Amino acid sequence: MTVVSLETNKLANYISGQWVDVGNTTPVINPATGDTIVEVPLSDASSVDHAVTQAKKAQKEWALVPAPQRAEVLYQVGYLMKERKERLAQLLTMENGKVLEEARGEVQEGIDMAFYMAGEGRRLFGQTTPAELKDKFAMSQRAPVGVVGIITPWNFPIAIATWKSFPAIVAGNAVIWKPATETPIMAYELAKIFEESGLPVGVLNVVFGAGSSVGDAMVQHKDLRVISFTGSDATGRNIASECGRQLKKVSLEMGGKNAIIVMDDADIDLAVEGIIWSAFGTSGQRCTACSRVIVHEKVKETLEERLLAKMEELTIGNGLDESIKVGPIINKAGMDKIKDYMEIGKAEGAKLLAGGYELNVGDNGKGNYFAPTLFSNATAEMRISQEEIFGPVVSLISVKSFEEAIEVNNGVDFGLSSSIFTTDVNRVFQAQRDLDTGIVYVNAGTSGAEIHLPFGGTKGTGNGHRDSGVQALDVFTEWKAVYVDYSGKLQRAQIDVD
Ligand code: NAP
Repeated sequence: MTVVSLETNKLANYISGQWVDVGNTTPVINPATGDTIVEVPLSDASSVDHAVTQAKKAQKEWALVPAPQRAEVLYQVGYLMKERKERLAQLLTMENGKVLEEARGEVQEGIDMAFYMAGEGRRLFGQTTPAELKDKFAMSQRAPVGVVGIITPWNFPIAIATWKSFPAIVAGNAVIWKPATETPIMAYELAKIFEESGLPVGVLNVVFGAGSSVGDAMVQHKDLRVISFTGSDATGRNIASECGRQLKKVSLEMGGKNAIIVMDDADIDLAVEGIIWSAFGTSGQRCTACSRVIVHEKVKETLEERLLAKMEELTIGNGLDESIKVGPIINKAGMDKIKDYMEIGKAEGAKLLAGGYELNVGDNGKGNYFAPTLFSNATAEMRISQEEIFGPVVSLISVKSFEEAIEVNNGVDFGLSSSIFTTDVNRVFQAQRDLDTGIVYVNAGTSGAEIHLPFGGTKGTGNGHRDSGVQALDVFTEWKAVYVDYSGKLQRAQIDVD
């Protein structure tokens, strides 16, 4: 396989169609090898201010372009992403570590989002509705908000950005995007694609830099009317309180503590496949990763045995190697957090059945690898069953009934994704009603969202907004109610009715 390379060793901000060098940089490290891939700018508030000023000008014009024409740009973006899918996937694996097969899947998600949101250019539906008075017309329509800020995490460096920027752009907004410092390459590549797609300059702007400087400057900037954020609980809560103070619209997608329920009538082999994929894919570093298995006590032993056997087959290493199933952990801080939870789990009395240690595999021993880990005999209240670990770690909790399984699933602060394996159709429908998560899967793992459905969670996972799906448009548009009176006289609502 030919491995692609970047044509630069230093990225630059993309502001108003210009590649702007800001001097200060930090290295982007390949988590599989410890090697530096490229240098990324560490911008400050002045870059944000410059980008917002330019974006404001561009947005005025962009909002007047008919939406079907705005959509043409997204079609073009989709075609270019499709053409460059393999390049994007390889670069994504290098900066993020996820295995190539998954990286291709993530890029595909972006391609799907481009075509789906381009279609919205011919919909962006509002409503017409009867007016109370004679000779009067009433309708509601979507209006762009203006300049919006999007802040994205390292674990899905391209898909999440497309969930946010594509609906924003088709709806007539301009975007300031701050990608995670760990994974800036997808932002650089996507900005180049937009540049080639005929997007007017200033509609999409990328500002690289740390959350504490660039991210914070975006949240503080009075002319950014929306902040759409995906990331950790702690950062999201801080952003929410600052946006609340400023009455700024904020959309938050944060953590998860997702569970797979395995009932006593489940197809156990299928459930094992679902657990392996959801718990150890992306090394457990997905917001939808399965980190709890809630198993009916009657099938606990069988499930454990088969799960352990399948875990042994997992190949761990550099995701660029097609035979690898589990890639590295993003960085040292991520590794330390996972290691801490090993001690916490053991101290809490959970039984470590597999894994629990750092691995020295990969090209030069400098990658961050952690063995797929299974804790058994966990209880619902333990910290390993309550807190997001963000690594290849699963806690197995045994229950006596369907009702108890639902209660355990719902007994966490997060509410992103859940899954149930059962062959009982009544249980299927009860579960999809009672599981308190934004996403529910039946006879599938906890990951596998499709872009035309709303993505997000209940409770501590967010604040009620959704990424992707037609619902994403609600974040980036204002509803406007329009009344047209063609009676030729002043008609007062609620008063001039006979
Ligand atoms: P994070 O540390 O909160 O970072 C997310 C983004 O926020 C990064 O771009 C970061 O910038 C930026 N940021 C950090 N501090 C900031 C501040 N004070 N003001 C503004 N922006 C700031 O989260 P992460 O560790 O990258 O991501 C993992 C988390 O994301 C997990 O909890 C996972 O569950 C969650 N996630 C949720 C979803 C979902 O849809 N629910 C999807 C994917 C991931 P820098 O990193 O460059 O400093």
